[in-house]
Amino acid sequence: MYILLMGPPGAGKGTQAERLIDKYNIPHISTGDMFRAAVSQGTELGKEAKRYMDAGGLVPDVVTIGIVREGLSKPECANGFMLDGFPRTEEQAVALDGILKELGIKLTGVININVPDSELVGRVTGRRICKQCGATFHVSFNPTKVEGVCDKCSGALYQRNDDKEETVKNRLQAYHAQTEPLIEYYSKQGVYTEIDGLQAIDKVFADVVAALESK
Ligand code: ADP
Ligand code: AMP
Repeated sequence: MYILLMGPPGAGKGTQAERLIDKYNIPHISTGDMFRAAVSQGTELGKEAKRYMDAGGLVPDVVTIGIVREGLSKPECANGFMLDGFPRTEEQAVALDGILKELGIKLTGVININVPDSELVGRVTGRRICKQCGATFHVSFNPTKVEGVCDKCSGALYQRNDDKEETVKNRLQAYHAQTEPLIEYYSKQGVYTEIDGLQAIDKVFADVVAALESK
């Protein structure tokens, strides 16, 4: 399974990716997670990425394409991967086509989780993530059994720096201006499926799996 997950910020990409990597036993390549790891390690990449992330903008293509090329070239990606949050611009999509061609890989499916903006602000501001294992929860829609404590590993939960209402608005703007046009790009390639992301998490997962397995 060579899967690409698309959708606006807060649509549920990370939530579905966590389940899909378990089901298909494939590595998870999330550019957002890679940038956050670089920020917390204080690397040069992290310092550069943070400027854009804190403002809710996109990290420059040349930087983002470089880290994805490196990630996809690893041997563990040869038999499948779950790409989440990339591509987000047409330049990234064109670069990805080139990388996949070099690697001799064809995408199994491009899944777009569709959720209207009116729902996304509440999803993003209520998101909580485990510091230890990275699992994603929501204060109302997917709460942990004990407040602030991860159900999976008992790690402490935190709120992302860019999950504030002001930043979410910029992120949505970036999505509509730069990422949404990729729907047409992938529709033309015949690998695109849209899933209703307003449904419960389990139902979204069932629809994603059904879409992938019909390919
Ligand atoms: P993305 O990776 O697309 O930004 P996440 O998977 O982190 O989105 O989900 C954003 C927030 O919405 C999280 O707090 C998550 O628990 C919650 N969430 C995800 N899917 C659903 C859903 N189908 N219904 C309600 N809440 C959801
Ligand atoms: P995410 O975890 O996918 O919500 O991404 C968090 C932030 O990381 C985004 O708001 C961007 O600033 C940056 N980012 C993640 N993926 C990309 C990408 N493909 N292109 C540019 N910036 C990205």
